[in-house]
Amino acid sequence: MSQKTSDSSTMPIHWEYAHAPESTDHVQYEKQYGLFIDGAFTHYDPSKSFDSLNPATGELLYQCTQADEKDVDAAVKAARKAYEDHWGSIKGSTRGKYLYRIARMLQERAREFAVLESLDGGKPIRESRDIDIPLAAAYFFYYAGWADKLAYAFPAKKVTPLGVCGQIIPWNFPLLMLAWKIAPALACGNTVVLKPAETTSLTALKFCELLQDIGLPNGVVNLITGPGQTGEYLVNHDGIDKIAFTGSTGVGKKIQQSIAGRNIKSTLELGGKGAYIIFEDASLNEAVEGIVNAIFFNQGHVCCAGSRLLVQEGVADRVIELLKQRMATLIVGDPLDKNTDVGAINSQNQLNTIQRYVDIGLEEGAECFQCEGNIPSSGFYFRPTLLTKVSQSSTVVQEEIFGPVLTVQTFRTTQEAIDKANNTPYGLANGIWTDKGSKIFHVGSQLRSGVVWSNTYNKFDPTSPFGGYKESGKGREGGVQGLAPYVHLESNVEAEA
Ligand code: NAD
Repeated sequence: MSQKTSDSSTMPIHWEYAHAPESTDHVQYEKQYGLFIDGAFTHYDPSKSFDSLNPATGELLYQCTQADEKDVDAAVKAARKAYEDHWGSIKGSTRGKYLYRIARMLQERAREFAVLESLDGGKPIRESRDIDIPLAAAYFFYYAGWADKLAYAFPAKKVTPLGVCGQIIPWNFPLLMLAWKIAPALACGNTVVLKPAETTSLTALKFCELLQDIGLPNGVVNLITGPGQTGEYLVNHDGIDKIAFTGSTGVGKKIQQSIAGRNIKSTLELGGKGAYIIFEDASLNEAVEGIVNAIFFNQGHVCCAGSRLLVQEGVADRVIELLKQRMATLIVGDPLDKNTDVGAINSQNQLNTIQRYVDIGLEEGAECFQCEGNIPSSGFYFRPTLLTKVSQSSTVVQEEIFGPVLTVQTFRTTQEAIDKANNTPYGLANGIWTDKGSKIFHVGSQLRSGVVWSNTYNKFDPTSPFGGYKESGKGREGGVQGLAPYVHLESNVEAEA
């Protein structure tokens, strides 16, 4: 490691780090996978195969079987049988034991899951090791604790499970989204058919191996891999009692239409366009560090990313200068390198989408700043990017880019900041940076979003509910609120008396 001296005392120190790759020796995965139905893997079917690439290199990582309508039907039937035969009626404490086992096993195999998540999704190993996998285990621990205490979660109510839950997840936090879905569903006595995103099925498939190892009864969790079409079969299957979807607002709307008029529950966790508001009384160095976490964490593939910087006019030039200096120190590259700050974009498709949005921004008059430095020549990479000279109506300010791209706007008054923050179709998360507690309460109470962070960003905890307003979706995941979408509640006359 060597230190580059800088000309100015205000410039950050630039370190050059030796390559420090996480070993993949301890990790095993198959080259070809079938589906996981009724406690067993089906044979890989080459006639229904699709490829999953390593985004860091663009090379083939493994192949999966695309579940067709018959496969989805078999998975739903297996889930129904497991629900009726035992899972829906066993004691809550027994369900809790299984969930604790899953949580502990995830902790034990954390290193293996972290490497697989980075290989498959492109995220930096530091993030999968320190955030994705520990948090996934934490959600299983948390909901294991509720499994035998549902009566306390819903006092004076008779609590019963829904039955079979269809669950569909995106590619940005594959194992973590799986945990957000499966843990509360199982804790409440439901069984599950889950579809991971087509570019990131690996940790979900490994998770099914883990379920076999801990002896989860057959059929309680079933996994169907495949593209959107497979998801549609699941949504349209008349054997499901609930659909839990996390993904884009466009697909969320389609799903809402498909289930209209059917007697099934739904939760939709959709897109976002979070504002990151810096007031002039904020600690600017900390606020700039917070931006890195808000928009460059997980390459900006974060539904609640702080992708719109709103900075008070008096400090705007200083914040942008500090931010550019900080961006120059970010290491973009091999996701498995422990020094990497920004890994690979998940797919060629997503890379094209990000580039298209930046091009639109430039056509509409934005100025673009990207940090220099080497990025790998193969694989899917995008430089952390700032777009200045944008306006509230700019496409890049209104639409979700889902990449490492931050738009910058200024404001003069508190009310202007609130108005600009609220002026998008989304309402998932926002962040406020200020030294004044009273301002946090005043602004926070007027921001129309499910989450408002103050003087921090992108902090998650299983005890805390998460979800959106407006086109960011409906329903909450996490916390005691995350149990409600998985149960029927009836007035319990005895308890009330
Ligand atoms: P996507 O909507 O394209 O896909 C999500 C999942 O839905 C995938 O598994 C996909 O195969 C499946 N799918 C696609 N079309 C379908 C259809 N017609 N019927 C049923 N299933 C279908 O989203 P994505 O690109 O995978 O994920 C990125 C999006 O997810 C972003 O908009 C992001 O903001 C959102 N997201 C939201 C949250 C949240 O908690 N609100 C969390 C993570 C990601």
